[in-house]
Amino acid sequence: MSPAGGGGPQRTGHAVVLGAGIGGLCAARALAGCFERVTVVERDAFPTGPAVRRGVPQGAHVHSLTAAGAEALDGIFPGFVTELVDGGGTFAGALDELEIVFFGSRLRQVPLGQVLQVSRPFLEDRLRERVGALRRVTLREGVEAVEPLSADGVRVRGVRLSRPGRPDSSEEVEADLVLDAMGRAGRGAAWLRSLGYRPPREQRLRVDVAYASRRYLVPPGALGEAKGVLIGATPARPRGLVLTQQEGEAWVLSLYGFGKADQPPGGEQEFLDFADEMLSADARTALRAAEPITGISAFRYPDSIRRDFHRLRRLPDGLISIGDALCSLNPIYGAGMTVAALEARALQECLVDGAADLPRRFYRKAARVVRLPWLFSTMADRSMPQVPGTRPVVVGLLGKAFGATMRAAAADSEVAGSVWNAVSLSGSPAGLARPRVLASVARHW
Ligand SMILES: Cc1cc2nc3c(=O)[nH]c(=O)nc-3n(C[C@H](O)[C@H](O)[C@H](O)COP(=O)(O)OP(=O)(O)OC[C@H]3O[C@@H](n4cnc5c(N)ncnc54)[C@H](O)[C@@H]3O)c2cc1C
Repeated sequence: MSPAGGGGPQRTGHAVVLGAGIGGLCAARALAGCFERVTVVERDAFPTGPAVRRGVPQGAHVHSLTAAGAEALDGIFPGFVTELVDGGGTFAGALDELEIVFFGSRLRQVPLGQVLQVSRPFLEDRLRERVGALRRVTLREGVEAVEPLSADGVRVRGVRLSRPGRPDSSEEVEADLVLDAMGRAGRGAAWLRSLGYRPPREQRLRVDVAYASRRYLVPPGALGEAKGVLIGATPARPRGLVLTQQEGEAWVLSLYGFGKADQPPGGEQEFLDFADEMLSADARTALRAAEPITGISAFRYPDSIRRDFHRLRRLPDGLISIGDALCSLNPIYGAGMTVAALEARALQECLVDGAADLPRRFYRKAARVVRLPWLFSTMADRSMPQVPGTRPVVVGLLGKAFGATMRAAAADSEVAGSVWNAVSLSGSPAGLARPRVLASVARHW
């Protein structure tokens, strides 16, 4: 690779990215600035055009991008956000064009924050096209990663690949850097163990969240001015929903619930009934008049996982985990793609200083990206009595704190803005600790 960064003609070496999801594709762009060759290896066959695929079943469910995520993607792929909007994606003012209800309180409407609403298959299709057009990058489909190759246990020298279900098709691919972007089931930690290293500490929070989603064609104006509705779960009603515009007239309705008893149903009528409990009368009417364009897809998310690679004393050269393989956040908070893009940007920044000690430097930077989203999502989850392992006193305290904050956010635009900046990773969470904000929360305790 280029010793002093991306720009010059002296790029050398080969990087292999395992997994062509959001994390893998963003990272491939970063690596193409430094390596002579980058190969992206994906187990699935690539669909022609935007389509849900087996390796990314979450693609059937709502996938919005926060402003921070859109900015990070645009930094990695200049002009990308404009391309998404030209292709039908829509920007919605977070607090004034979306109806956001957190902990039972509707956040005050102020012109603040933006959300980029696109479907996951569309976003990924456009990313793949961008990456596929890069001169140094080769996309390989229908090939899976099997194990790392290492001659001395000190550095990874490549990866063994094969066609799924065809062990006889095994091949060895030499690489200077192997990137595990295989999603939440990423193998980086297990591979460390197989190479004789201590695997990272794994933090897991069992949340047992189930999703059910369907796409509809909604005629313009059918839902009034609103571009979406986002209703979060509460301890008393551990169910939520997101109804958002995606490309053009296509909307998606995603329902979710904590635990088996609140799992959204797959039957057509029951699906709508589940949504009815939370939607306004107008939204209910609009939804019943809308035309479904897909069936109902189900998805189960068992636990949030954070792998603390940054705490390891010994790491082999040439192996890095990124995206959900590093930290998988409860999807109801909609931060996973933003975090994956920010990690890819962190990798890009680390590459400017060359390859020496790259995994350790990257994991330290990535830990700073992951810290707050992990803290927020696990704290919010621990306020739900349905999440096992949390003591009732903690559940009670967190529940009261979130409840009071959201009641204050319903009444006070400064609190609403601070809440939104914190949950969307758009601003410093320190805004929530400003004396005026704290005083307002105290009044609503
Ligand atoms: C229901 C749901 C809703 C969500 N909503 C949002 C949202 O609104 N906003 C948001 O920002 N995030 C959301 N997320 C999170 C987001 O989907 C993930 O954080 C993001 O996809 C992580 O990207 P990734 O590249 O790490 O993993 P993935 O996108 O999961 O990609 C992993 C890739 O690796 C491939 N792969 C796996 N094993 C192998 C192998 N052995 N060899 C080769 N390839 C392999 C897979 O086929 C896949 O293509 C949601 C998640 C879920 C589950």
